[in-house]
Amino acid sequence: MVKPKTEEEIELLRQNAIIVSKTLAEVGKAVAPGVTTKELNRVAETFIRDNGAIPSFLGFEGFPAAICASVNDVVVHGFPSDYVLKEGDIVTADIGTLYKGYNGDSAYTFPVGEVDAKTRMLLDVTKASLYKGIEAAVAGNRTGDIGYAVQQYVESFGFSVVRDLEGHGIGKEMHENPGVPNFGHRGRGTHLVDGMTICIEPMINAGGRGVYLDRNGWAVHTSDHSKSAHYELTVVVRKGKAEQLSTFDYIEKDGKINF
Ligand code: MG
Ligand code: MG
Repeated sequence: MVKPKTEEEIELLRQNAIIVSKTLAEVGKAVAPGVTTKELNRVAETFIRDNGAIPSFLGFEGFPAAICASVNDVVVHGFPSDYVLKEGDIVTADIGTLYKGYNGDSAYTFPVGEVDAKTRMLLDVTKASLYKGIEAAVAGNRTGDIGYAVQQYVESFGFSVVRDLEGHGIGKEMHENPGVPNFGHRGRGTHLVDGMTICIEPMINAGGRGVYLDRNGWAVHTSDHSKSAHYELTVVVRKGKAEQLSTFDYIEKDGKINF
């Protein structure tokens, strides 16, 4: 049984979620051909600290940077580096904050300049699958209902769900129970109750679902080196409709990137 959060705790999680959401937008403004992923990290870390928060990923289990910057076939946990983004790449920024003792955690995959049609579809489908998952994150459902919603949607487009990684509860710890897989069966898994705070984060491959761990012990790559997309939002389970804490509204207008 996972304990729901109090409204006071949810308010602190909301404050984190807003900082993370705005940080993602700052990173998005900086994404362009010719920019290094290290520069994206610098932009994010500066913004987080300027807002009085701590970049929670930095030093987490030894992670060396403020953000994960995962390019093309990297699913998650890419190290920001001297790699220079080029037209047609995609880059996922996954960002965490610690503020007033609570955590924020959200991710967005940005296209670099113009991307090909299949890549565009991968981004659109992955993001839409996140919203399908959020629709299922209501009191009375189970975590399997979220996974089922994501998986059914994604696989109908011929893309595949990474099964080795999953979403999670969030609170004083960045990763709390329950685990929130992006695949599964309706009516299975942890019961969702009003006030539970979770991060839903589909990681979706254009090719097969296989992944492997980089020699650096962190970056997760697709086995077939197809591109992978990842969108993450923090929500509160509520009766009838989940409440979003983080948002892509600072990035997008009418579903299109705003800058
Ligand atoms: Mg994350
Ligand atoms: Mg997460």
